[in-house]
Amino acid sequence: MLLLGHIGITAFVSSMIYLPAFFAIVGSLLPDIVDKGLFLLGAPCGRFIAHSIFFFPIAGSVIYLITRNKKFAIAISLGSLLHLIQDMNDNVPFLYPLKNYTFFVTCNFEFEFTPFIIVSEILGSLSLLFVYGFNKNFLKLRKLFWREVNGRFKRTCSILQR
Ligand SMILES: [Zn+2]
Repeated sequence: MLLLGHIGITAFVSSMIYLPAFFAIVGSLLPDIVDKGLFLLGAPCGRFIAHSIFFFPIAGSVIYLITRNKKFAIAISLGSLLHLIQDMNDNVPFLYPLKNYTFFVTCNFEFEFTPFIIVSEILGSLSLLFVYGFNKNFLKLRKLFWREVNGRFKRTCSILQR
């Protein structure tokens, strides 16, 4: 996935669950910033250590140590985790360095505008527009959504207690 997809979808998800979107967005960009940076320094691929499942808890822990703020730390972790999920249309070295990946050998910076990329960029742009451009409507939807979830939860609990 590309920039707008990562940013937009992460902004939407983090805002829906009341996490600071700014930190989630930074988290969603970290895997590419770290790995593309390492790639320029000679790492075998632009999807490398920061695209493994070990990165997001580490990123969150580092932010917690710096800021002592749980919400910032969780938001950074969530953003980095969402990044991996959003990258799953192509090779992701989830278990690196426990497992070695053959695609490292053939890895390059080339990409094509596949339908997945195009759809995710459009979805990301629309998410951004909705969360920030139509913020009042977004806040209304979020309120309705959680009211509905709470209502269903309470109803289920009362049925279970009978
Ligand atoms: Zn990536």
